[in-house]
Amino acid sequence: MTEITRDVVIIGAGASGLTAATDLKARGLSVAVLEARDRVGGRLWTDTIEGAMLEIGGQWVSPDQTALIETLENLKLDTFSRYREGESIYIGRDGKHTRYSGDRFPVDAETAAEMDRLIVILDELAESVGATEPWAHPRAQELDSITWQAWLEENTDNIEARDNIGLFVAEAMLTKPRHAFSALQAILMAASAGSFSNLVDEDFILDKRVIGGLQQVPLRLAENLGDDVFLNQPVRRLEYTDDSVTAIADGITVKAQYAIMAVPPNLYSRVDYQPPLPRLKHQMHQHMSLGLVIKVHAVYETPFWREDGLSGTVFSPYQLVHEAYDNTNHEDPRGTLVGFVSDQHADKVFMQDAEARKAAILDSLAAYYGEKAQNPVVYYESDWGSEEWTRGAYATSFDMGGLARYGAMQSTPVGPIYWSSSDLAAEGFQHVDGAIRVGHDTAQAIIARHESK
Ligand SMILES: Cc1cc2nc3c(=O)[nH]c(=O)nc-3n(C[C@H](O)[C@H](O)[C@H](O)COP(=O)(O)OP(=O)(O)OC[C@H]3O[C@@H](n4cnc5c(N)ncnc54)[C@H](O)[C@@H]3O)c2cc1C
Repeated sequence: MTEITRDVVIIGAGASGLTAATDLKARGLSVAVLEARDRVGGRLWTDTIEGAMLEIGGQWVSPDQTALIETLENLKLDTFSRYREGESIYIGRDGKHTRYSGDRFPVDAETAAEMDRLIVILDELAESVGATEPWAHPRAQELDSITWQAWLEENTDNIEARDNIGLFVAEAMLTKPRHAFSALQAILMAASAGSFSNLVDEDFILDKRVIGGLQQVPLRLAENLGDDVFLNQPVRRLEYTDDSVTAIADGITVKAQYAIMAVPPNLYSRVDYQPPLPRLKHQMHQHMSLGLVIKVHAVYETPFWREDGLSGTVFSPYQLVHEAYDNTNHEDPRGTLVGFVSDQHADKVFMQDAEARKAAILDSLAAYYGEKAQNPVVYYESDWGSEEWTRGAYATSFDMGGLARYGAMQSTPVGPIYWSSSDLAAEGFQHVDGAIRVGHDTAQAIIARHESK
């Protein structure tokens, strides 16, 4: 077993941990980043599957994600816009397939008016609650004790309006059933993206991609950190006092003054802390869980939908694949669709064998794009739920009541141990932008403490 001494040990080489390590090293602190997997990037992972380059994890960048955009500029990474020429498709509650333009679903006038009314209410709530301290809002308790589904039912009798507005947070973001998280958690999701209107506007949220894949962010950060990143080193135990910490991984022990747990909160409990964490942390960690979504990649000889005047963007809360997009790589003559199967729908198809699951998913794509969608040349399902060092997708959120009860202390350090991940972010919550923001903030907190010694 190798033993080394550093100022800071960082557990997890995702975007958050590597950002923190980079900032700390730039300020002259020595670091070691211990990563459980045989690669860096965590939930960012680009791979070539049967000749197709696929972004298996996170990929999109939106214009308000300024921390991510700054990192992309620093790392000299270029972006390209998602293909969005032409009409989108919506399948309604009545099963009707409709082509439309703009960011409003083609529903009947009454449903459209209800959706607009709900968006106004939710924009106001997102603005008033904010992303930084949702738990401190005067209505935090109330909004955290009602499920997102119940809030929607309380606010409209129009089922299709409810299903559509519900989708923007449940299936599309938190990837949990609407009855499994609170209205406060839903409002935080909107506030962290700037507004509920931004969540509804896929051209804003899913604006750009990085040429060559977003995993290049962690890859380049790790490259710059060089020998300070150690792969295949799952940290099993953290022994700590008020001002020292020892991280024990499978092949290396790091003695440090500070540690950063830069892993998703659902994995905090995989580490044995000595002494045990304070009671409230133990409690809190049991109330944070990852959602579940299958990201489906279907590559075709050509982007055939474009010839039909379609953008590739499709939505329906009534389909197995609740949303899908043109995800063709930069300057690739082939066409790629990416679709998403969320929460209980994912549970259901995971009970089927791989062939039946693929058939069900392709049937759903064909419901939108026609029979040509049935024959991809490459088909791949990102299955993060099976990944030991993630265990779901996209990110963690609190269960009912957890955000108001524990949110205020979610980032509080325990002695020398700090917490950093996209799932603790205010702005950019659950996104790479948030991972980077929290990484910067965590490094800053350690630097301030260190320099005041
Ligand atoms: C399918 C999918 C699609 C997504 N789409 C987008 C998108 O389009 N845009 C966007 O901005 N975000 C997207 N996201 C979310 C985004 O990828 C994450 O929010 C972000 O990458 C999280 O970064 P992180 O550093 O906080 O955590 P992670 O990336 O999870 O990094 C944590 C690291 O810690 C390691 N680790 C865990 N336990 C230990 C241990 N005990 N010892 C050592 N190492 C450990 C893990 O292996 C991992 O490398 C998506 C996520 C998924 C899964």
